[in-house]
Amino acid sequence: MKTVSVLGSTGSVGTQSLDVIRSLGYKVAALAAGRNITLLEQQSREFLPTVVSCLPDHYHDLKTRLADTTIKVTADLTEAASLKADVTLNAVSGFSGLMPSLAAIEAGNTLALANKETLVAAGDIVMQRAKDKNIKIIPVDSEHSAIFQCLQNNNRVYKVILTASGGAFYGFTGEQLCQVTPLQATRHPNWNMGKRITVDSATLMNKGLEFIEAQKLFGLTAEQIEIVIQRQSIVHSAVEYLDGAVIAQLGTPDMKLPVRYALTYPDRAPTDSARLSLTQIGTLTFEKPTLSDYPCLEAALYAASRGGNLPAALNGADEAAVSLFLNEQIKFTDIARLVREVLDRTRYIAQPTLDDIIETDKAARRLCKERF
Ligand code: NDP
Ligand code: MG
Repeated sequence: MKTVSVLGSTGSVGTQSLDVIRSLGYKVAALAAGRNITLLEQQSREFLPTVVSCLPDHYHDLKTRLADTTIKVTADLTEAASLKADVTLNAVSGFSGLMPSLAAIEAGNTLALANKETLVAAGDIVMQRAKDKNIKIIPVDSEHSAIFQCLQNNNRVYKVILTASGGAFYGFTGEQLCQVTPLQATRHPNWNMGKRITVDSATLMNKGLEFIEAQKLFGLTAEQIEIVIQRQSIVHSAVEYLDGAVIAQLGTPDMKLPVRYALTYPDRAPTDSARLSLTQIGTLTFEKPTLSDYPCLEAALYAASRGGNLPAALNGADEAAVSLFLNEQIKFTDIARLVREVLDRTRYIAQPTLDDIIETDKAARRLCKERF
């Protein structure tokens, strides 16, 4: 039995992680979320963590609700992240996930990482700190979990095939894309996820972020990653070895698989989810994305090639732009325009410190709001 802390426990990955933890019979050390106090209270009563954390504005409410328990309520996400546990599973959304990742590493906990922004914004710093402290980072993002599973500690890698579903608007014309609404953009054909990542899947920004995430996590050059559209989301990614062998990981589009693997690693535990039937799927298709159709992916690949603080600027701008789109303040196609403008206006720092990255993120959000 392991003890696990779940950060972002009220979200899409967080709630699915608690389902997995329930089925594995693991113990919960800490829970953390933002604003959904009703669900956080419910989860706290079921899993009885030592510490539960929420955003400061909701602290008094949660503290009052849990007054009859011995659970420590805090408004400090870092405290929840650094509580001693076998695994800290970070499923917080956005840049807010970076500091808790660093706190978990500092505390000596294995980091099961769903929060891709941690590696996009500060991949070099985070990987170095994990190396210095001899901490394992186990990916939860399904593609990276797939690559991790295919790697089998073998470093004779020729390249990695990073699969993408193509998102909600695959095949739409530029004119159609100008008209799409937040409601349409937050419905994904294969996965049920948080709002930002669903919009990012439609622009393919998500694949751009994952490209950077894969580079940092597995130490790959840009030439070693090929993005392939796999519409059915069954092949979660693959590794091609020097001898030409390609090993892929397949499964139903269900985040519980990568979550379960990250928690039980290096062991595997039986699933209670539906199993993959290849004969029912019948056909798997693979296509090369046309970069000019996906300006957000183009911007991400540009930021990846420049490195430094540009991936942090890319992420900050995208978070801000997606939130403007979800509030119906800009069009879907403006997301890419704003991200590009922010990248062009960001002061480049080749080897940013953590403070530089925090400042770059803030500046990118500010710039994005000014330019819309
Ligand atoms: P959701 O929006 O569904 O959930 C986000 C979670 O983070 C919620 O629990 C939210 O709390 C919490 N949160 C947000 N901001 C803060 C903050 N400042 N402090 C504390 N808690 C905060 O997101 P997803 O579950 O979809 O995604 C989470 C992460 O996992 C993202 O980085 C995403 O890219 C990644 N990911 C997600 C996948 C998916 O299938 N959903 C797949 C692969 C990766 P509350 O709601 O209470 O405010
Ligand atoms: Mg993914």
